[in-house]
Amino acid sequence: MPSRDGLLVVISGPAGSGKSTLVEHLIEKIPGNSRRAVTATTRSPRPGEKDGIDYFFLTRDEFRRMIDDGELLEYTEFNGNFYGVPRHSLERELAKGGVVLLVIEVDGAESVKFFFPNAIFIFIIPPTPKELRRRLESRGTESQKDIEKRLAIARREMERIGEYDYLIINDDIETATQDLAAVIRAVDRTLILGDEMENWDLGLFANWNTRQIL
Ligand code: 5GP
Repeated sequence: MPSRDGLLVVISGPAGSGKSTLVEHLIEKIPGNSRRAVTATTRSPRPGEKDGIDYFFLTRDEFRRMIDDGELLEYTEFNGNFYGVPRHSLERELAKGGVVLLVIEVDGAESVKFFFPNAIFIFIIPPTPKELRRRLESRGTESQKDIEKRLAIARREMERIGEYDYLIINDDIETATQDLAAVIRAVDRTLILGDEMENWDLGLFANWNTRQIL
């Protein structure tokens, strides 16, 4: 059994910020105990996406049943589809210890902050608005109308970066991965110190709490 629950890292960023690729890269490249918490959606799978790995792909009825049964920690409607965090699967991942990455949009992140005030909140941004558009267009999976809609949503999401603890600029994937890893490692190491504080002279830490490392 891990000595403490995993560190919850909430990642948001507009479509085209490259947040999913960045998180995949982080898990692959950075050795250690880190994994993504899988969330649920009513959106159809994009080519290559797998049920239970990228999302739990649900029908609207199945999603509604999860809401009714109180199985979702939070849920939201985003661009015409429902997305939500299954409570039990997140708790199960956290109980394994290590680092648990939860990639969700800004309203969801706000709700998660209420339940997990000690989680770290990280916002990923592309280097320029022009690059954001280019990335969305080069995906080729969305119509022009959908791209314009996503760009408008992106603007609204960026207005809320002040709610996050860290901002990572995803211009170059390698650099951004290192930045993200460095932030997570620094916080994780300091939390270990927090766990061990009883071995220290507590007076030294009288005016300190884990939130202050942020
Ligand atoms: P996409 O359709 O591009 O995979 O996701 C659309 C947005 O929904 C992204 O910002 C993604 O991070 C977010 N998202 C994915 N799962 C959840 C969830 O469980 N809750 C919330 N609030 N947002 C989610």
